[in-house]
Amino acid sequence: MTNLPEINIGVVGHIDHGKTTLLSRLTGKFTDTHSEELKRGITIKLGYAEAILSQDGKTFNIQGKGKPIKYISFIDAPGHEMLMATMLSGAAIIDAAILVIAANEGIKPQTKEHFIALQAKNIKNIIIVQNKIDLVSKEQAQKSYKEIKEFVKGTLAENSPIIPISAQQRVNIDKLLEEINNLEIPKKETNTDPIFLIARSFDINKPGKSIEKLNGGVLGGILQKGTLKVGDEIEIKPGIVIKKANQTYYETLTTKILSLHKGSESVKEVFPGASISIETELDPFLTKTDSLTGGLVSLKGKLPEIKSTVKIKSQLFEKVLGTENSKKVEPIKTKEMLMLSVNTTISVGTVEKINNQELELNLNIPIVPIKNENIGLARNIDGHWRLIGYGEIIE
Ligand code: GDP
Ligand code: MG
Repeated sequence: MTNLPEINIGVVGHIDHGKTTLLSRLTGKFTDTHSEELKRGITIKLGYAEAILSQDGKTFNIQGKGKPIKYISFIDAPGHEMLMATMLSGAAIIDAAILVIAANEGIKPQTKEHFIALQAKNIKNIIIVQNKIDLVSKEQAQKSYKEIKEFVKGTLAENSPIIPISAQQRVNIDKLLEEINNLEIPKKETNTDPIFLIARSFDINKPGKSIEKLNGGVLGGILQKGTLKVGDEIEIKPGIVIKKANQTYYETLTTKILSLHKGSESVKEVFPGASISIETELDPFLTKTDSLTGGLVSLKGKLPEIKSTVKIKSQLFEKVLGTENSKKVEPIKTKEMLMLSVNTTISVGTVEKINNQELELNLNIPIVPIKNENIGLARNIDGHWRLIGYGEIIE
């Protein structure tokens, strides 16, 4: 399975439109696995589920019938509007997206907000799922279809397929699998220093396990470029937070790769593509409960220094999305607070200087600035962080 072409697909859309249900149909797995999420009934952290797409004659399935053709990692978007930041972090690691729109409700604020986030991250491969088709009449379905067509007009998704589906009743899932198969597999750089984005970090040991048998700390995420091998000496930045005398420091962690895993398979080397996990020599205490989430991994000595000031080139949207009534995006002012989503992490900072589209920010949480990296920009409007534009790291 390790040689199959790989693709990461984000599942986005308004809360309750059926993202998690659809994912469970596509993968046979339930992504809402965290008790806190289950309690609140929403997906807070990014949920992951992998599937192998198989082709049987002209039809596609995930039950392993016919020939395996693609390895797919699905990433479930968080459901709550306050969690836009997590949505954007998710967008940093996806190659394509499925936008779920419930036919009985149509385009809602989060549909717009997630859609604009995809545009900000330049995600061109989008499949639109018109879900809950079982709840509407034929006329309503057509009306909703027209509304979607109007919504995507003039955007990257203008010609995206729109598939009527009932995730709950398993209607047309095969048609969706066919469109997933049609998605373009992104080209990834392998002849360069690796960049691995940490989306999750864990302690996989069960309580009471004897010390000699303990597994090292595990990092889950996406290799964006380059390759990683078992035995590689790696570094993790920003690393761990140390609080001393009211000051916060970050300490880079260095360690060695003990094992590499793709889904349930153990591999010797990984290439850019689907989500993987890295077992390190780190004390699992350092990796437990997502403590390293948002960090970057590369070979020892290859990551840029962490910085609390950053210079970016920004591009603002015309309107603020994610609210019922779209407001105009006001220009950025000096001394205002903005939220940046960088890779799989976020930071908040004050705008110190503005020179046309160039902004200099002083950040509360330092970042690992990778030149030309795409970032999302959000502003607090009436108590909610709203995406107002996007940008690129200059230095
Ligand atoms: P999410 O918030 O987008 O992840 O939505 P969920 O997958 O949690 O679904 C929200 C609710 O809609 C649940 O009660 C689902 O059972 C229901 N639902 C999902 N898909 C369908 C569908 O195709 N038809 C109907 N009738 N209900 C659905
Ligand atoms: Mg959900």
